[in-house]
Amino acid sequence: MRKSMKRHIYADNAATTKIDQEAFNAMVPWLTDEYGNPSQPYSFAKKPRLALVEARETIAKCINANPEQIFFTSGGTESNNWAIKCFCSKNEQRVLISSPIEHHAILNAAKDAIGLITHFVSVNEYGEIDLIGLEKLLLETNKKYSSNTNIMVSVMCANNEIGTIQPIKESAYLAHKYGAIFHTDAVQAIGHIPIDVKDLDVDLLSASAHKFNGPKGIGFLYDKKQFLRIHNSGGTQEFGRRAGTECVASIVGMAVALKNNCIRLEENKKHIQMLEEYLLSGLRRIKLDFIRNGSKTHIPGNISLSFKNSDGEMLLHRLDLMGISVSTGAACDSSKTQLSHVLKAINCDSKYAEGTIRISLGKDNTTEECDVIINSLYKIINSSRK
Ligand code: PLP
Repeated sequence: MRKSMKRHIYADNAATTKIDQEAFNAMVPWLTDEYGNPSQPYSFAKKPRLALVEARETIAKCINANPEQIFFTSGGTESNNWAIKCFCSKNEQRVLISSPIEHHAILNAAKDAIGLITHFVSVNEYGEIDLIGLEKLLLETNKKYSSNTNIMVSVMCANNEIGTIQPIKESAYLAHKYGAIFHTDAVQAIGHIPIDVKDLDVDLLSASAHKFNGPKGIGFLYDKKQFLRIHNSGGTQEFGRRAGTECVASIVGMAVALKNNCIRLEENKKHIQMLEEYLLSGLRRIKLDFIRNGSKTHIPGNISLSFKNSDGEMLLHRLDLMGISVSTGAACDSSKTQLSHVLKAINCDSKYAEGTIRISLGKDNTTEECDVIINSLYKIINSSRK
């Protein structure tokens, strides 16, 4: 007799998400029949060209932007690199103020940006940035550097490892008060919490489709006033700012996925929050000794748990053997074994920090799956007590 297939439980939605079926269906014609290059002048290029216009409009509407403020990129990493490296020309003096818990696409872009001076504003034990510290830093920066220094504040909307949502409106307000421009990495937030760029008053915002049930390798950057000086030599695509033939299928898929996630945002949030509560109360019921990292204001379903005297790597691999996909923190960090920069910055208790995993639930997860996760963690932790 055939052995029954082991059930797979995907609980790593902060790393990537399953593509929305409607988004997938909407992509197909642009890969099969309507494959024309949108830049060509003949009639076969008209439909793909129009598809780009419509996708840009859809995306802009979802975040209350204007279509000409949306620039398609290859994803969150490229959008963040653009923002950090191109907010003024290379020979102007520039200062970045950011947080120590940003994604590496910000932290490493800042390290690599030639001539960029970076200062970090601290975060508290919940990963929330210190707004008083930010104002102090802006004041000091204004005093220290000449008046024609370009200053950017970049604070992520929501943290990928612990889910903490930052006070973006307040941070943007402070940045503008001191003449700085404001960027937010909204990769974990877009499609999961409401984002209104006008209300938040952000100048630049990064997004990535695969985090909101769109395809991988596509994202966008919102640039309010064409602040960025991008040097991408080639054709005149993206209003002459990002050369290269557009991936029409992915752009269309991204727009459909974002629209659907925004329409169902409240419904999805309610379901995911119910699952989150269910999972946490289940773990408390079986009396596992753990702390939950992050702020009360967090992305629905992003659950960073640190188990006492345990080992996150071991938990990840043993859950994997049981058919459950979770993460030890940032997906991009999974090859490294040292404590993540986020856990260090929030001063996670050393008895717990090494036993950290991130369970990130999505709209397709169920309470039955949460039961399996609870029981599996119970078995693993009780059989591996140090
Ligand atoms: N920023 C944040 C907060 C992320 O979580 C990620 C991906 O994990 C990125 C940026 C990078 O996005 P992408 O995978 O689209 O390059």
